[in-house]
Amino acid sequence: MKETIGSGRRPAAVGIVRLSGSSAVEVAGRVFRPARRSGGKEGTWTPRSHFVEYGVVSDQDGSLIDEVLAIPMLAPRSYTREDVVELQCHGSDVCLRRVLRACLEAGARLAEPGEFTLRAFLNGRLDLSQAENVGRLVSAKSVAAADSALAGIQGGFSSLVKSLRMQCIELLAEIEARLDFDDELPPLDTSMLIDKINDMWHNVQEALDTANYDKLLQSGLQIAIIGRPNVGKSSLLNAWSKSDRAIVTEIAGTTRDVVEANVTIDGIPVTLLDTAGIRETDDIVEKIGVQRSEAAALGADVIIMTMSASDGWTEDDESLLEHIKMNKKSANSSTPMILVINKIDCAPSASVEFCMDNSTFRAHVKTCAVTGKGIRELEKAVLEVRGLEPVSAGGRRWTINQRQCEQLLRTQEALSRLKSSINEDLPLDFWTVDLREAALALGEISGVDISEEVLSSIFGKFCIGK
Ligand code: GDP
Repeated sequence: MKETIGSGRRPAAVGIVRLSGSSAVEVAGRVFRPARRSGGKEGTWTPRSHFVEYGVVSDQDGSLIDEVLAIPMLAPRSYTREDVVELQCHGSDVCLRRVLRACLEAGARLAEPGEFTLRAFLNGRLDLSQAENVGRLVSAKSVAAADSALAGIQGGFSSLVKSLRMQCIELLAEIEARLDFDDELPPLDTSMLIDKINDMWHNVQEALDTANYDKLLQSGLQIAIIGRPNVGKSSLLNAWSKSDRAIVTEIAGTTRDVVEANVTIDGIPVTLLDTAGIRETDDIVEKIGVQRSEAAALGADVIIMTMSASDGWTEDDESLLEHIKMNKKSANSSTPMILVINKIDCAPSASVEFCMDNSTFRAHVKTCAVTGKGIRELEKAVLEVRGLEPVSAGGRRWTINQRQCEQLLRTQEALSRLKSSINEDLPLDFWTVDLREAALALGEISGVDISEEVLSSIFGKFCIGK
């Protein structure tokens, strides 16, 4: 059967049972009775597209099971481009299950995960990269991830890929014409050709540059806060996350393990790791904490070293820094470090000159963890050292996922080979092989050339009902 059903999430005041397919109206008509009869034979429902109708849903025996709003969206003006009927039911699990069951008994079948979007793709409503972004929008865990998915659905990346693929096909046509009718056509202008390929190569590179940011959106940033005991690391984490996750005391060595807190910086999910104060210790529990702190620092995306403005830069700070530098060197880590001069309220004129080793710290920020002063500056510094711009009013742009990244790299390699084939004056057949490869890779991104296997792996990750 062609009909599909997906149900809304719970708990909510309203839930949706959604039907799509050539028999969607017929199936809906078997369960839905509008409150106001308009036209049509007695017993048949003749919906007007995009007009909401209030009515009731009954089961096979004719027993009333819910009061609903029915929204018919007739082909092709629907998400799937098929006839779609949405039944807006009461959101409880019981209501939704009963309406769903009534639809199944009336001839529908349950949708596969992502089947609505798959149909939208198969019916040309979305291309594959837009469809992938629908999945990402539904499962977005941060504002920034949702923004980038939305920008992807809007089609900026899709039109870039489409235009690059068209350029490949046009070039291919020109070259193939030379292969068949060499005598009748003017020779190819190779310098113009190289210019075109360079442009395409750079466009691909710009898209590839968004891949790192995309990874960040999916996995978030990890920031390790390190420093000798009592400089205010836990207070900083608490002020930053506006919580009391970390215990703050005046006794050095209180934080004995890594404490985590989640914040967002301009929509990017960030995990703050408050580490045990790193120092020489004989206390066995504290020693384990210190080892974990060092491991957390090495695994983080940014290290924030905290010092106390009231104590100034001490020998302990110096030896801790040396220790971290040594660890980083042996782990071959280039994690950027920021110096936080905390307790600035105690020594407002504290200077950083004494410890500013520019090659070690990429930024320094003065804070007061008790009042939260300096935390926005710290956030800006984090974005800056990770090469991320604070978000402008215009919002974010699309980013590419791993699958799209692989195909763009394939495109870029093919374009590079094509350039060398032209420069080395290789026969035209060589050029066409690379152009075809580039067009094929771009076609895989938009879904023009795509295998069933890839499709089911993409849509299998969706939830049912989308
Ligand atoms: P940690 O051992 O580095 O985690 O340090 P804590 O966060 O436990 O702080 C040690 C002490 O310093 C506590 O008494 C805090 O209240 C105090 N403290 C932390 N940050 C500041 C600050 O910016 N200004 C002042 N005046 N005191 C602070």
